[in-house]
Amino acid sequence: MTSASSIYPQIFDGHNDTILSLVRTGRSFFERTGDGHIDLPRAREGGLGGGFFAVYVHDPVNVEATKAEAGSVSMESAMKIYNDESTWPEPMPLDYAQSHALGLLGRLLQIEPASHGQVKIVRTGAELQRCLDHGVFAMLLHFEGAEPLDPDGYALETFYAAGLRSVGLTHSRRNRFSRGVPFKFPASPDTGDGLTDAGKELVRQLNRRKVMIDLSHLNEQGFWDVAKITNAPLVATHSNAHRLSPSPRNLTDKQMDAVRESRGIAGLNFHVGFLREDGARNADTPISRMVEHIAYMVDRMGIDHVGLGSDFDGATMPAELKDAAGLPRLMQALGDRGYTGEDLRKLAHGNWVRVLRDTWGG
Ligand SMILES: [Zn+2]
Repeated sequence: MTSASSIYPQIFDGHNDTILSLVRTGRSFFERTGDGHIDLPRAREGGLGGGFFAVYVHDPVNVEATKAEAGSVSMESAMKIYNDESTWPEPMPLDYAQSHALGLLGRLLQIEPASHGQVKIVRTGAELQRCLDHGVFAMLLHFEGAEPLDPDGYALETFYAAGLRSVGLTHSRRNRFSRGVPFKFPASPDTGDGLTDAGKELVRQLNRRKVMIDLSHLNEQGFWDVAKITNAPLVATHSNAHRLSPSPRNLTDKQMDAVRESRGIAGLNFHVGFLREDGARNADTPISRMVEHIAYMVDRMGIDHVGLGSDFDGATMPAELKDAAGLPRLMQALGDRGYTGEDLRKLAHGNWVRVLRDTWGG
């Protein structure tokens, strides 16, 4: 099969919410639809070779989110309670988080056997590289929020056995381990206390199990707490440059310096609200704005420490990009900016593969 995308290196992406979108809409991963941003046909068309698939559990008290799952209100309005810390819910109960995570994980695990060899859940760096080399779509199981994990580390063993290889400590809310940043704009990611003692212990457990730790959504003190404890490269799967778009979800220059020094990576988030200087959810945001963030991040961290972290199926994309099928337009724009050959390969997937291999071993 040839397509326009084959002139570009395969893309491996640091974040999507596709599993939530599949559950919400009932659509199939294998059929091309206009819903959401990723299905296998659109991934193939865009040269998307795989990515981090997030398991995210809605707060039980967020009834708006439940309505949004049923399609009666928009997810955007459902997520409004996270804009300000004063409206954040209490941390959710462990058994609630675990039962919901199991359901979402099960939905993800169904995809590989139903794919007849087209999709694989990757558990090692070698498996990921083989998938990218041979055109098998690579799914990496990720938790966006550690709420389903118990402090003793038993659930981590179970989820690891099921394929879990990456954990974000929190979403934009607080839990037993840490505190995220609110979605307000403009704002600093420095919002007070960092990790709890249980959060520090979780970092050690994840290190021992060689599971990647994702710092996106974490507040600044939490970021520095992890940086002090962890023995792995620092990773922000889907965060941009705070200097260009002052959302607390983006990385400050100092945070980017720490990512570089640890030989880590930050993935470009395509969400327009994290790209734009005014933070507006305005899809009329050009692809050139994405390239500006990449250029800033490369200038600050070096070409070895920047990747992509789209937030497909969980955010508002630039209309010019639209969905996974539009990725060649981003590749073209990066090429026009001078990122070609080995540099473009690193941005597209090479840096992700290296950091994952350094973190997982092998
Ligand atoms: Zn996110």
